Amino acid sequence: MTDLYSERVIKATRKHHYCEQCGRKIEIGSPAHYAFGVYYGDTFSNHTHVECHAAARAYAELNNAWGEEYPWFQHMDRDIDWTSWLREHHPIVAERLNIEREQDEVEA
Ligand SMILES: [Zn+2]
Repeated sequence: MTDLYSERVIKATRKHHYCEQCGRKIEIGSPAHYAFGVYYGDTFSNHTHVECHAAARAYAELNNAWGEEYPWFQHMDRDIDWTSWLREHHPIVAERLNIEREQDEVEA
């Protein structure tokens, strides 16, 4: 269980951060989603691209994946179910994760 959790959107970052979702750099001056909390006594904080955060949140809502189940795209196995969903609904994020159309995808 989470003891404390807070989040906010930073309009323009003043330092470089790496996105916890896609692993890519968030450029200085870009908007970012910032989360901070305490989980079983350990503090955590992370920055994500606004688009990456929106995609993860949408995925969690769709799959009821919260807490331990919450998606962290860069650490997830490349599974056709979520990668094709991401490519269709959040193409910017899919591109950041280098998710490309399956080579052997054949028109029916
Ligand atoms: Zn990202």
